[in-house]
Amino acid sequence: MNYEKLGLMCGLEIHQQLDTGKLFCSCSFSMQEGNPDAVVKRKLHAVAGELGEIDPAAMAAVQRGASYAYHFYNDVNCLVELDEEPPHSVNKESLETAYLFAKMLNADVVDEINIMRKTVLDGSNTSGFQRTALIATGGRLDYGKDSIGIQTICLEEDASRIIKAQGNEIIYNLDRLGTPLIEVATTPHIHTPEQAREVALALGLLLRATKKVKRGIGTIRQDLNVSINGGARCEIKGAQELNLIPKIVEYEVTRQVALLALKDELFIRNAPRAIKDYHDLSGVLRNSVSNVIQKTLKSGKTILGVKLPQLEGLLKKEVSPNRRFGTELADYARSMGASGLFHSDELPNYGITAEEVNAVKKTLGCADRDAFVLIAESKEIAEKALDAVIERVNLAFEKVPGETRKANADGTSSYLRPIPGGARMYPETDLLAIDSGLEARGLRLEVPAAPWELIKNLEAKYRLSHELAAEIYHSEKMEVFEKIAKSVSVEPTLIATTLTNTINSLNLEIEFSADHFIHVFNALKAGKFAKEAIPQVLDSWAKNPSKALEQIIFGLGFEKISHADLEKLIQNIVAKNKALIEERGVENAIKPLMGDVMKEVRGRADGKLIMEILRRAINAPKGI
Ligand SMILES: [Zn+2]
Repeated sequence: MNYEKLGLMCGLEIHQQLDTGKLFCSCSFSMQEGNPDAVVKRKLHAVAGELGEIDPAAMAAVQRGASYAYHFYNDVNCLVELDEEPPHSVNKESLETAYLFAKMLNADVVDEINIMRKTVLDGSNTSGFQRTALIATGGRLDYGKDSIGIQTICLEEDASRIIKAQGNEIIYNLDRLGTPLIEVATTPHIHTPEQAREVALALGLLLRATKKVKRGIGTIRQDLNVSINGGARCEIKGAQELNLIPKIVEYEVTRQVALLALKDELFIRNAPRAIKDYHDLSGVLRNSVSNVIQKTLKSGKTILGVKLPQLEGLLKKEVSPNRRFGTELADYARSMGASGLFHSDELPNYGITAEEVNAVKKTLGCADRDAFVLIAESKEIAEKALDAVIERVNLAFEKVPGETRKANADGTSSYLRPIPGGARMYPETDLLAIDSGLEARGLRLEVPAAPWELIKNLEAKYRLSHELAAEIYHSEKMEVFEKIAKSVSVEPTLIATTLTNTINSLNLEIEFSADHFIHVFNALKAGKFAKEAIPQVLDSWAKNPSKALEQIIFGLGFEKISHADLEKLIQNIVAKNKALIEERGVENAIKPLMGDVMKEVRGRADGKLIMEILRRAINAPKGI
């Protein structure tokens, strides 16, 4: 695809959890499972924002009319998460980390930090809003290969984790709620899918370099804003794998191109807008063998259908891999609590016969090129879901709608809710503004070196390959590596591969310190075992961590010396050093002699045995 010609605009938004206390209380987050200590139920209502309007995303959530249950755990929750107690002042460590991150990106910290409430009515926040604060604006990320503008850096609280959504009953776990997040947004000047991945990688590395971030799955989330000429900004949330990012961008471009083509086709067909004229088809489909239809009718629910004039063939039109326009409509139905829909481009199928399709068409008043959709749900949900479907179909005549979408595992995305506007923000009345000038001046923020610079330095200083240097950096073994490399005269590349490849392949039960490795490399340098035996030595030592390295090497039996040879060797050394023994006395001479023997033996005999023979030989120099 020619992204330049299509006018691809892409911006990244990264949310990174901080490993500090929660943002507005003294709890800290760890994953909770099992029976909660309490369950709290809520319903949420939309309120107008500062601009006096109700946000469309909020409205969509309320229209759904869901109720929410929250799992509360004493270990990680207090009344703040339940919105039963006002927020405490902002966690200082989080705030300082945000200042530091702003400095790392050369962004300007705002003079006064105002905590805002952002309306979020999907139930993920008990209060119906998420607290967020703008920390800095401007700035630039220079990641070696290229650079990208930074729009904003915010500090915000993470939401609850969804556990289960069953119809209109949604269950959340409160463990994560209130965890601090740094939110960094780039300008929309990313112009290729691959560049989006590079920027995400660089920002992630930079966040890690603050040394204040949580690690592991789910601790960093990437959202992508994508648009093309004539399309619309769609926000795709929750890309967790960096390598999926280029695909997500590509598929979103594909989708918007397909939707623009659909709009043209509707114009060519001169199709009229769809009307919210629903018909109950329970009677027509009463004898259908379709499982879904039978289950719906037996549970007292209904089947509602609506005509989509002139849309025949367009519902099966693919918009991204394995997703059709009909799939997009089904997403809208799901957002209103329906479990899905049937559309005429996929029927007869699913147990619905050609005769039944004809009967449905007749009831709905469909002409030749008309399509239809069916929803099998309670009347209330089916009506809301069809409303959403009709509104979406009619938008297809005008534009690509701006949407908030969820990233799928294959790189495609599904509709979540309308894109929120500015109407969802209003000030937090329980917290005072923070004078960032004063705070920032009193702080000494030492900006850590950029990761890509550190990798470059490692490469040059130790003559490592780029891959190896990067691996040392990413595995967070840089300090250990440098300590070892300074203490032992072994090829740095050998040290680096031992710390990465060798350790990774061994799956050791204990984590060795730099000192452990220094012992091993010194023994290697002293010729006590061969380079090839490093994995065996490490593995054996990890299994017997209380043993001395000498014993480990001996135990592995690298060419064990015979008892007789050992006796002979020791007696020779003693004979050569007669003068030394006489001059210094037995106790003072035994240590250097032990060293001489060990050097000869190279780990092929046990130190204890050597000492025993050595003592005997010194005391009876003429032989046994
Ligand atoms: Zn708390």
